[in-house]
Amino acid sequence: MAEMNLTDLSCLREIMARFGISTKKKYGQNFLINRSVPIRIAEEGCLDEEDGVLEIGPGMGTLTRALCARAKKVVCLEIDETLIPVLEYTLADFDNVTVVLKDVLKTDLAALCAEYFADCKSIRVCANLPYYITTPVLMYLLESGVNFASVTVMVQKEVADRITASAGSGEYGAITAAVAYYGKAERLFTVSPGSFLPAPKVESAVMRIDMHEQNPYEGCDRRLLFDMVKAAFEQRRKTLNNTLKGLLSPEERLLMKSVLWEMGFPEDVRGERLDISHYARLAEAIGNSRAKMKSRVAGDM
Ligand code: SAM
Repeated sequence: MAEMNLTDLSCLREIMARFGISTKKKYGQNFLINRSVPIRIAEEGCLDEEDGVLEIGPGMGTLTRALCARAKKVVCLEIDETLIPVLEYTLADFDNVTVVLKDVLKTDLAALCAEYFADCKSIRVCANLPYYITTPVLMYLLESGVNFASVTVMVQKEVADRITASAGSGEYGAITAAVAYYGKAERLFTVSPGSFLPAPKVESAVMRIDMHEQNPYEGCDRRLLFDMVKAAFEQRRKTLNNTLKGLLSPEERLLMKSVLWEMGFPEDVRGERLDISHYARLAEAIGNSRAKMKSRVAGDM
């Protein structure tokens, strides 16, 4: 087969017409038509020939082809059944790819990765994400329990800015802290609307999350940590002490004040000034005090 260039508009349109495909807004379909972008995503995704790659939403197979050329194996999850025959055609010259017709949010990712990537050195995610479900998909990937080495995704530029923001900045939010729990996020490059068919209304950006090899926050109660972060950002103009009233007892808030003081923060600090390591330290102290209290009560009985 001659080299297939799916970023060439006439080639893409010809294949879409042949298979009766039109882009579907409900699935967030914006297909890449800028030749350099899939290549850069595959490069920045740190893939090597021993790696297994999970792609969410292969679409017409444009990014998939760049991934197949670099990785050992590629597994794609696509929700739109009309794209399956297209992908059989556009990926026919690769024997290291499997397309699975499934909604990513209804897929057991741990089982899928165990089935396909057992012989791969690392498992990585690379995707041009459908923007209507960016955050749920990202959190689903991070919370899947799969030991991903990295997650490289195209998202709305605004979302990439929020996820890579520093504590205290205007863009910093609960999603920044939640992602930082799992890894270190970096914004790599921006992509203009003209790089897609159809052109979205917003700018896009590619970012990579390098997952922690050993999670530094494993010592603390994750549920408590995430509840604290959520509560702190629900009312970000209030002090941390006020936002956590519903979550912590008065004694626990006293303990929190002393830990804040140890970390160099005033007691009226707002939650938006703390990064994930600060929240983890608070959650660890409060979790330990709850455990002590529980064992004391059990001892009294
Ligand atoms: N990778 C292609 C590209 O870069 O040209 C297409 C990217 S397009 C932004 C998003 C893709 O995700 C579409 O193919 C869409 O059908 C697919 N998709 C949308 N929701 C999905 C879901 N819940 N599970 C799996 N795929 C989904």
